[in-house]
Amino acid sequence: MPDLSTSPARTIAIVGGGFSGTLLALKLTAARPEWRVLLIDPAVRAGRGLAYGACEPYHLLNVPAHRMETGLTPPFQAWLAGAGVHLDDALAESDGVMADAFLPRALLGDYLQQRLEDARSTDPARGLHTVRGEAVGLLDAPRRGVRLLDGREIVGDLLVLATGNLPPRAPLPGDSWLHDHPSFIPDPWAPRALEGGDPEAPVLMLGTGLTMVDIALKLAAEGQKGPMYAVSRRGLLPTAHKAGGAWSPFVAPLLPASPLALSRAIRAAARQAERQGTPWQRVMDAVRPAIARVWETWTPSQRRQFLRHLRPRWDVHRHRMAPRVAARLDALLESAALTVLGGRVTRWERAEGGVRAHLHLRGLNAEQSLRAARVINCTGPRSDLDRLANPLFADLARRRLIRPDPLGLGLETTDCAVQDADGRVSDWLYAVGPLTRPALWEVTAVPEITAQIDRLSHELAQDAERPRAALAEVFIDMGAGI
Ligand SMILES: Cc1cc2nc3c(=O)[nH]c(=O)nc-3n(C[C@H](O)[C@H](O)[C@H](O)COP(=O)(O)OP(=O)(O)OC[C@H]3O[C@@H](n4cnc5c(N)ncnc54)[C@H](O)[C@@H]3O)c2cc1C
Repeated sequence: MPDLSTSPARTIAIVGGGFSGTLLALKLTAARPEWRVLLIDPAVRAGRGLAYGACEPYHLLNVPAHRMETGLTPPFQAWLAGAGVHLDDALAESDGVMADAFLPRALLGDYLQQRLEDARSTDPARGLHTVRGEAVGLLDAPRRGVRLLDGREIVGDLLVLATGNLPPRAPLPGDSWLHDHPSFIPDPWAPRALEGGDPEAPVLMLGTGLTMVDIALKLAAEGQKGPMYAVSRRGLLPTAHKAGGAWSPFVAPLLPASPLALSRAIRAAARQAERQGTPWQRVMDAVRPAIARVWETWTPSQRRQFLRHLRPRWDVHRHRMAPRVAARLDALLESAALTVLGGRVTRWERAEGGVRAHLHLRGLNAEQSLRAARVINCTGPRSDLDRLANPLFADLARRRLIRPDPLGLGLETTDCAVQDADGRVSDWLYAVGPLTRPALWEVTAVPEITAQIDRLSHELAQDAERPRAALAEVFIDMGAGI
């Protein structure tokens, strides 16, 4: 804990020491070593966040190593080469090419944590400091900063919210008894959430996306013998990566295009690509850099239409599995260890050794039921800050300092500067990472967050004007390698 009574040139307090907060802290410290940067996170050792923290060696990055570079020194791949880790499986799959290898996610966490350790200052008046704690509210004006759960006050000239992936929401009615039943696991990433279950008993996972894949692999690796079921409305599974080929960007000239027109254009390009022997994955790679620009052109009702009707298909094609993860999942499906169902749970019932779910399966006009000893919420991080009783965001809302967006994606921001309840852009409160989704939609993965943080750290460190080119244009310039 730094001595907070000294007064350095400028103090930046960053709430959240996951990927986004850590990268911003490192970049700001490198640019302005005379400033004091305080990185606040409850973790004993910050730097990993959800994605690169609670994961096992078989939980892989969902893009090749070269797409995880963040501009830090040493680069990720150079650090890997000297880190003495065994990457035989990954390198065998990529013909020995590190840049193309799908690596364990934990390695990126190790790398970031190491950068943080190396950058940490011993001078309380300057440099990077980690503060262990949870921010639960703001200090009263005119003071700027946050209060921690343990009562400490952290003062900063600027405050950056980097709280990232918030715990998932249970897809249950608020008054459901299941919330409080011992069989229900509301957050599979919570410490020890999966410990102590009977491996012979059936498990039901709610959600069929990447979180479910992670959890199914974990249960299987930890000896689950009983059947695993996963259910979502459409029963769509994430698709797998496939290397090879190229596809030119084609979306920008079509703008403005409605969600339906965009979807048709993508499907037409994917069919054309397949006819030419190019994997459809290259079409999605060509679309991704332009999607923030597309999002900007959409009206609120078009955005809602996209989220309601097209998002499930977008998600499974955009967020893909590493080939080795896809192979493990296929093996679970083929051996019937895992069954994926499309439909919805209509009713829950208490049952011997757990609960019974009554399901209305898609395409069938009948109810089916199955018993599960554990029901695991795998619906993924939530973002609807309005409905989340998180103390920090509740306090920010009470002070009218934030404006959660109407679609429940995060906070309204202008180039990372947070808009207050009346839409005024703050000159001291900022947000980065997934929280800023309302402005860009596609700002949840490493390349886009890195570009966003590079701009913000440049703006803050240089005391520069707001950048002229929109971030969405920067993503387009980054091209298909994004
Ligand atoms: C499981 C998973 C796998 C992913 N895999 C990839 C991948 O392979 N490639 C890729 O490009 N992207 C991937 N992503 C996406 C992306 O990298 C992450 O979303 C990114 O890590 C976001 O980082 P973040 O710091 O904004 O959020 P988080 O990682 O969620 O970190 C937020 C931090 O804020 C802290 N915090 C929250 N509230 C408070 C508070 N009130 N006070 C103090 N601290 C607080 C939390 O403890 C946490 O440490 C993945 C995401 C997930 C969830």
